[in-house]
Amino acid sequence: MKLKRISLLRVHYMPKQLTPGILYVSEKFGTASHLCACGCGLTVTTPITANRWSFTAGANGPTLRPSVGNWEQPCRTHYIIDDGDVLWCESWTPEEVLAGRAREKAKRDAYYDKLYAPWYRRLWNWLKGLFMQ
Ligand SMILES: [Zn+2]
Repeated sequence: MKLKRISLLRVHYMPKQLTPGILYVSEKFGTASHLCACGCGLTVTTPITANRWSFTAGANGPTLRPSVGNWEQPCRTHYIIDDGDVLWCESWTPEEVLAGRAREKAKRDAYYDKLYAPWYRRLWNWLKGLFMQ
């Protein structure tokens, strides 16, 4: 089963037995491991070094860049781990996936902006509504 979410677990040493849905990160040894998000059971190891993968821990989960591409493996899956979300990119290029996500975020931000806009902005919008029919 394809995973949609992955959570972060900081470790010192990589455990021998990994649990699906967890990105194990050992900052001490500069490496991260997880079981392939497609559920095939493959262990994917991503070195966290300047020229390989970069890792950040966000409020919702880990972000790993660039994408994880298991081209050499039977499942040939390709995904991005972004803020704890597993974004699948079989038909999209990673750039397309990120662009799509940015669009979604902009939409979400606009929505919350409208919902929680500061009073002066709401007042301004209200006034604008009165005079600019
Ligand atoms: Zn797989």
